[in-house]
Amino acid sequence: MSLLKKFAAATLALTMTLSLAACGGSDAPAADSNEGGDEVKTYIIATDTTFAPFEFQNESGEYVGIDIDLLAAIAEDQGFEYELQSLGFNAAVQALEAGQADGVIAGMSITDERKEKFDFSEPYFDSGVVMGIAADNEEIKGYEDLAGKKVAVKIGTEGASFADSIKDQYGFETVVFDDSSAMYMDVTVGNSAASFEDYPVLGYGITQNVALKMVTEKEQGSSYGFAVGKEKNAELLEMFNAGLANLKENGKYQEILDTYIQE
Ligand code: GLN
Repeated sequence: MSLLKKFAAATLALTMTLSLAACGGSDAPAADSNEGGDEVKTYIIATDTTFAPFEFQNESGEYVGIDIDLLAAIAEDQGFEYELQSLGFNAAVQALEAGQADGVIAGMSITDERKEKFDFSEPYFDSGVVMGIAADNEEIKGYEDLAGKKVAVKIGTEGASFADSIKDQYGFETVVFDDSSAMYMDVTVGNSAASFEDYPVLGYGITQNVALKMVTEKEQGSSYGFAVGKEKNAELLEMFNAGLANLKENGKYQEILDTYIQE
């Protein structure tokens, strides 16, 4: 709990005690009978729409994936309630920034820039960006072959920042999409020559018949973390970290990974 919140909670408790005393409510329930002082909170957790194997819909339309299963297992372990909102990556991050969501789990990379706005959990998965090109493209072997071409990116992602950081050097233009499927499609239909995506996600997509391939090494990447607003929801972050540590210890974390990723 932030100092400010502690102060606010203490002030509230004091005000309640005073008003109870004022109306002589000695048999009213004690204000401190439940620790923490407020009723069970349902946290709003925002996520991406399609980012398999981290979050995606199965045939029955239910959201599944490493992030979704981890969150469910951590909430169960720690005893908290949440409501999942599949908003899309950029929308989820914006909702968190605007205080409309309490947390984001969306294969969200822990970056220095984001750490200025958000607090992150311990890292739970190592990732990094890689280039994907159409499976039948024999022309592109490296970034230098992107000159004069279009490159599809997903708004607000590390892949998009990486593409922006090298586009002048290699002379390509970026085309921006809201979600990974639309971005892949732009490459498979031949409008864009390539896209930049997190390699565990692109790698998984390729095993699931997305018609793309990788021809370059992956870039040095960052790790995924669960995010809350800066100095907000510290309890939620602590519970996430504690639950994650328990899941790593009791084998559940590995079990979840093995459900989605086969070596
Ligand atoms: N890991 C990438 C990022 O944080 C992409 C996340 C995503 O597309 N869901 O920018």
